[in-house]
Amino acid sequence: MATSFAAKVLVVGIDGVRWDTLHRAQTPALDAITARGFRAPVQVHTAGPTISGPCWATIATGTLASTHGVLDNENPPDAMPADFLTAARGAGFRTYAGASWPAMLSPVDCGPIFAPDARMTVAADPGHRLDAWDTADQLVVNEACEALADGEIGAAFLYFGVADEVAHALGVGPEYLAAIEACDRRLGAVIDGIGALNGQGEWTVIAVTDHGHVDAGGHGGDTPEERTAWITACGPRMPRESPARLEQADVYAQALSVLGLPVEPDRFARPFGAR
Ligand SMILES: [Zn+2]
Repeated sequence: MATSFAAKVLVVGIDGVRWDTLHRAQTPALDAITARGFRAPVQVHTAGPTISGPCWATIATGTLASTHGVLDNENPPDAMPADFLTAARGAGFRTYAGASWPAMLSPVDCGPIFAPDARMTVAADPGHRLDAWDTADQLVVNEACEALADGEIGAAFLYFGVADEVAHALGVGPEYLAAIEACDRRLGAVIDGIGALNGQGEWTVIAVTDHGHVDAGGHGGDTPEERTAWITACGPRMPRESPARLEQADVYAQALSVLGLPVEPDRFARPFGAR
């Protein structure tokens, strides 16, 4: 490995958090990441719709929808390019994944976005019950803190879904703000649980959303509120200024870069700051 210490990367996906709403919420965990690195808006690439499955597939595989083939939340493509956890495992790293939306990790709906692995937690499908999404997100946190405690995991991906579900049900009002804050508390619990920001310099943390929402709740269209996603990240050698050009796909390349792994030249993704 090119790194001189045990570099690790944690990617936390928080579904459907609008860029402008993010700044109205109280999010100390996300703020702590930003204070140690950068936070930037990212436009969902026009090759794909502002729909969860296509956006997460781009983040996971570093390719656009025209390549990975996830075009909606219902239909999986015949084959997916390898996600960054699979690539990390191929290079000998242990990985972990946890998600409250089963399609992220299992062959339901448009999934799996990440190839299933022995070390993962998939919540029972919460359907459209908001309390079930809260429970499922919390399960992801609890299991992640346990799974990451032994220090053997080199790359992890976690997914929280309650904020998106609340926006769909109730619009982007106070309940949505509260749900974003709940996601932030859960992110904070994981970060604290593994000591990710304690200054020892082994963890890179990347938090990312897939798309925004219209005021009434809902997405899939091309308004700025739906197209504008964001990334915040910190870690050893992370840029302290927002990269001039940034794509959701770049999460893939940055995750591999942290681990000292090459990014295939034919992937759309580039490490942060390398465009
Ligand atoms: Zn989504």
